[in-house]
Amino acid sequence: MFEYNHIDSDGKNIDLPVGKVVCVGRNYLQHIKELDNDVPTEPLLFNKPSTALVSLNNPVVIPKNLGPCHNELEVAILIKTRLCQSSIKDAEAAIWGAGLGLDLTLRDVQNALKRQGHPWERAKAFDRSCPMSQFIPKDQMKSLSNINFSLSVNNEIRQQGNSQEMLFPILKLLVNISNTFTLLPGDIVMTGTPKGVAALLVDDQIIIELNEHFLIRTYVV
Ligand code: ZN
Repeated sequence: MFEYNHIDSDGKNIDLPVGKVVCVGRNYLQHIKELDNDVPTEPLLFNKPSTALVSLNNPVVIPKNLGPCHNELEVAILIKTRLCQSSIKDAEAAIWGAGLGLDLTLRDVQNALKRQGHPWERAKAFDRSCPMSQFIPKDQMKSLSNINFSLSVNNEIRQQGNSQEMLFPILKLLVNISNTFTLLPGDIVMTGTPKGVAALLVDDQIIIELNEHFLIRTYVV
């Protein structure tokens, strides 16, 4: 049930292991405002284990009876070479490509953990909390700093973002992350969500689009 492989735009397996997912919180100003959080002075980081990964080609499974499960659609970067205390140049060379992932978040659970000063894993790192798209090779993307993406739920646009709106752009994020967590081939970096987080409900129809590259239709179970 939890089989996951990185796949390319032809649906073929990418020859990289499945690793951890390093996530960035609070990287878009409008999203920071919608949750009434402070603007960070350095990236806010947390991890999801590899068991969080599932394919977005399957229905999105949300936990039941744990309060609202919010969508957070994010640009996901697939890493192909080891990065430790890297330079901008090494970071750029280490990118296999980009896709889109959902950082599913149990918002009430997260708020309770935040109030107690506890880690967020129970709200964000549970099984299947990271549905992931195919990846587009970096050389097929015009620019990493101008990636347009969107999430529609039941035919209404709920999230729309562009990577140029990030407070910490992708290459700087990779450099910063690699000072704390060594990134290994097959790891994924989730780069933060734009505004528009809200609860997903069973039977919601979802469309996830990476402009000029792919459009995924799925639904929530
Ligand atoms: Zn997120």
